Amino acid sequence: MCGRIVINGRVWEGGGTCKWVDEVLFLPLQAAAERLGASCRWIAYPQHLEVEKDGKTLILEVGAEAAQLQGEEILLDHPVFVEKGMVMVPVTLLCRFFGLFWTYVEDVDAAVLSRTEPALAGKRVVIDPGHGGDDPGIISGDLVESAFTWDVARRLGDLLMLSGALAAFTRQQEETASLAQRVKVVEEARPDLLVSIHFNSFLCPEHNGLETYWYSSWPARQLAEHVHKGILDEIEIPNRGVRESAFHVLRHSPAVSVLVKLGFATGAGDQQILKDSWLRERAALGIFRGIRDFIEARPGRM
Ligand SMILES: [Zn+2]
Repeated sequence: MCGRIVINGRVWEGGGTCKWVDEVLFLPLQAAAERLGASCRWIAYPQHLEVEKDGKTLILEVGAEAAQLQGEEILLDHPVFVEKGMVMVPVTLLCRFFGLFWTYVEDVDAAVLSRTEPALAGKRVVIDPGHGGDDPGIISGDLVESAFTWDVARRLGDLLMLSGALAAFTRQQEETASLAQRVKVVEEARPDLLVSIHFNSFLCPEHNGLETYWYSSWPARQLAEHVHKGILDEIEIPNRGVRESAFHVLRHSPAVSVLVKLGFATGAGDQQILKDSWLRERAALGIFRGIRDFIEARPGRM
């Protein structure tokens, strides 16, 4: 278990990991404090730790059953402890102090913490996991496109919802949905954005890389560029560029829409990304940040 940490859409690469103790999830205080701009200081007598952010104070004592948040006593599920020089604090206390929401993504052993992103709050995003049900999409060895598009879509949906956006899908996990049915879902949901997820294929394993598509509108092109960059920042994958193409869902969607081809299911390099659940989570993080950055770059116009 490696106890990864993601805070506000970024993987924490500093020291320390998250850790379950007696069914309580702990995080190193340093990770949250540094990422979120809080100051921490040890007070020698009586020995305790003071965390401060935006005029709010949290007082912690190692081994104590309670903490003080703005002078109010908060009972802890499990006492704060120190491990390898890191002050380990229950995630619920950190989230309460910093105003974050959290989830634990079990298959990649990651604690994901997020604030309500001002850019994303209340925004409607429809995610279109390519293929599904009777239509498996590309099959390459034991890789089936429809399973992976669903996997990445689900991860992206969870990240968006944790940050205050409203995510919906054009199909459920095992569902078959025609292109016309997908467009109908988009028309009825009237989202701000649509992100369609597919994989690519070619005859030879040397073809690898990321392509992101838009069609016909300037905002769609901007969204494609942000999403493309977000993914490239997050995973190592050859860059095949942002392209324009008249894919059915792009042509018929009333929302600002992009279609991501997240590597080649037939590519020797890209298959390593598809098979690795953590890299799929990171790809979803990249798409998430691309969406956030796109909306932040167009204040008042969404
Ligand atoms: Zn496809």
